[in-house]
Amino acid sequence: MQTFEESGINPLIIKAIKELGFEKPTPIQELTIPYLLDIKKDLVALAQTGTGKTAAFGLPILNQINTESGKTQVLILSPTRELCVQISNDIKNYSKYLNNIRIATLYGGAGIDKQIRELDSGCQITVGTPGRVLDLINRKKLKLQNIQYVVLDEADEMLDMGFKDDLDAILAATPEEKQSLLFSATMPPDIAKIAEKYMKNADEITVGEKNISAENVKHHFYLTKARDRFSALQRIIDAHPAIYGIIFCRTRRDTAEIADKLIENGYNAEALHGDLSQAQRDYVMNRFRIKHMQLLVATDVAARGLDVENLTHVIHYNIPEDPKIYIHRSGRTGRAGKKGTSITLLHSKEMFRLRDIEKQIGKKLNRKMIPEGKEICERQLFHLIDKVEKIEVDKDLIEPYMDVIYKKLSWLSREELVNHFVSVEFNRFLSYYKNAPDLNISENERERDSGDKNKKPKQRKANEEFSRFFINIGSKKKLSPTKLMGIINEQTRTRDIQIGRIDIMDSFSFFEVDTQYENEILSAFVDYKYKGMNVSVEISKEKKNDTSKPFKKKNFSKTKPDKRHKKR
Ligand code: ADP
Ligand code: MG
Repeated sequence: MQTFEESGINPLIIKAIKELGFEKPTPIQELTIPYLLDIKKDLVALAQTGTGKTAAFGLPILNQINTESGKTQVLILSPTRELCVQISNDIKNYSKYLNNIRIATLYGGAGIDKQIRELDSGCQITVGTPGRVLDLINRKKLKLQNIQYVVLDEADEMLDMGFKDDLDAILAATPEEKQSLLFSATMPPDIAKIAEKYMKNADEITVGEKNISAENVKHHFYLTKARDRFSALQRIIDAHPAIYGIIFCRTRRDTAEIADKLIENGYNAEALHGDLSQAQRDYVMNRFRIKHMQLLVATDVAARGLDVENLTHVIHYNIPEDPKIYIHRSGRTGRAGKKGTSITLLHSKEMFRLRDIEKQIGKKLNRKMIPEGKEICERQLFHLIDKVEKIEVDKDLIEPYMDVIYKKLSWLSREELVNHFVSVEFNRFLSYYKNAPDLNISENERERDSGDKNKKPKQRKANEEFSRFFINIGSKKKLSPTKLMGIINEQTRTRDIQIGRIDIMDSFSFFEVDTQYENEILSAFVDYKYKGMNVSVEISKEKKNDTSKPFKKKNFSKTKPDKRHKKR
């Protein structure tokens, strides 16, 4: 079907959609419209967001409704009130020139009485959120015995929002003889289960690649100097104690080298590259699959076709030159509806590559700050506490030692005991990360290093381009320059704002930002809370004499930390 006219849809409907600017069917419509006009089987239809799925089911359903009867023939379920209203309006628009079509929109948070009156007056089509629909079914106001179509729209979102039980109950209450249609952008396992449970050997129509750059993958990048790359990697790993991931490197040599360094530093890692024999590769892969190993360091070629479940992270040790490689690599996490994170390590000269990748995946990569030692210690500590809480205790096994242990520790109170035990772990990381330098590239350094040769590095004319802000938190509240930069980036939701000098005082601080973003900064901090405290940000009246020097951190020595302790 190339045109709407060919499809056999009522000319009055076509007239209406032409007025909406629908010239020709979208790819998913091209496939579902003739299918639904002809075939009475259940259908799963998968297509990306924004591809016209509402009309893909709305038009053929409208075409087949019995307008002589006021009985409810169609039930469309959708995750949010906004989507319900949108679908309902869309269908009203498509049916503008048809007589006697009535649509009820049923969602929570609005008066139920009006919705009941609407239903009582007889509506052929109902559009609703699962919660409210179930409520109305239970009140016997929404009658399902004449239902011919049930549509689960944005089914993946519905499950994400925790509507599974409601959906189960609603679907179980609908009559046997009906056509069920499931529309979704992705096909996570839960959707497949619903399809299996409530649909009778449904056909599947898919447009485009399923789960392309899966919605559930987060894309982050960290800016650091080339020589700090490995330390940055180490910190990122340390900040994610439960990491289970692949680190991609460009060459075999890099791969072997990074893996060796990681192993040497006590990480549970191994290399996978073309220099290994097939048997060695199988061995490594197997250990990784059964999670006897946390980190696989691999080249693209060696990892091709690798399908490992439940990876939490994919790390690009170097940003790939070809965006397609980025997509391939990132696609190894966030599979089958699971969540995952794709992390890229970058130095400023590589920033331009980011844009190509962002264009390809249609998403922004968010800058994250390389965590400071303190933050890592905290994360490790809480990971440990969590483990302690959940560990299975084999009483018989430890029994023989307990007497001696109790005696030895008897002089400690319960509180002291916990303090001691926490310190064992905390001190270990704390001493490792004591005096650890900040590995992030500041905005000033970024400007200087920027690889864009055509762009003259912006010269700072003292005070002219920067506005100085006062913020009522300081080092007493554990604010550091890095943290502040992170907060500014996060609150403004952009990383394009140039940040200048930062002065952290005990209980307040100053920071400078490109003057053109003055208003954005002020509005970004309205209602912002830091550690439960109301934060106020104001333009500072105080002018610093010397603002021409880029910000330098003073408190961190540049000495290399001692060799880390072996991880258990
Ligand atoms: P999805 O449900 O797949 O996310 P929608 O059904 O909400 O997508 O449609 C997205 C947008 O595309 C809407 O604004 C809709 O009006 C428009 N649209 C749908 N079908 C067509 C078409 N055949 N031609 C032009 N625009 C269309
Ligand atoms: Mg939709």
